[in-house]
Amino acid sequence: MTATRKVEYGGHLHRIANKPVKGTGARVTLMPDHPAIREARTLFPSRVVHPDDSPRLLVSGFNQRKIGGKVTKGRWKGLPLYTLTLEERATCPRSCGEWTTCYGNNMNWSRRHAAGLDLEARLIDEVVAMEQRHPGGFAVRLHVLGDFYSVAYARLWQDMLAEVPGLHVFGFTARQVGDPIARVIRAMNAEYPDRCVIRTSGVDSLVIASPAGSEHVLCPVQTGKTDCCGLCWTMDRPVEFVRH
Ligand code: SF4
Repeated sequence: MTATRKVEYGGHLHRIANKPVKGTGARVTLMPDHPAIREARTLFPSRVVHPDDSPRLLVSGFNQRKIGGKVTKGRWKGLPLYTLTLEERATCPRSCGEWTTCYGNNMNWSRRHAAGLDLEARLIDEVVAMEQRHPGGFAVRLHVLGDFYSVAYARLWQDMLAEVPGLHVFGFTARQVGDPIARVIRAMNAEYPDRCVIRTSGVDSLVIASPAGSEHVLCPVQTGKTDCCGLCWTMDRPVEFVRH
């Protein structure tokens, strides 16, 4: 049986697994009956903000550890880099293989933006403003936390790729074959192969317990070799991330 311990987050005690798997480091693993698991939400609800209350949705990677302000390698080299963070689990499929071990469980300071029409309206404004600020193009990392949460939301990105030629997007999705949202994502990748690379978790990207278990290509950001470099959206082989 997995040992557990009680920890306090946001004034409440939570029961979490006590490093249940050898080699998984300090990643917080929530128990299946934890409210954040049952209610499909973040462990840190006070860090979810309405888009109207946020200074910006698209945040420069400049001040974010391991992201960096610009793409450093590959065909997008030099493009300014921004990130979008949504609420983990609330926007994700329950089939995600990291549902209880989501890296968001360790990201107590990240600002998550509440999903919905208000977010989508503001995204359009910010993407149009970015196009004017960066005539040579810009890249958006979708989603540091969270996922494509509806067909309409995925179609919004598809429409923005059509309307804003400088927009480049990359990231990972846990939406798998058979999910109607995944169909839109696949269409985006196919229609804009030079500007849209959304890879599928568990297929194109894998989570491994330790670097020693690597069988493909380990993300060089995780080994401290570089900031966000573009490897994961320019190679055909799966990229691996260590669960830490
Ligand atoms: S899809 Fe990503 S953000 Fe969502 S629960 Fe899974 S690991 Fe976390």
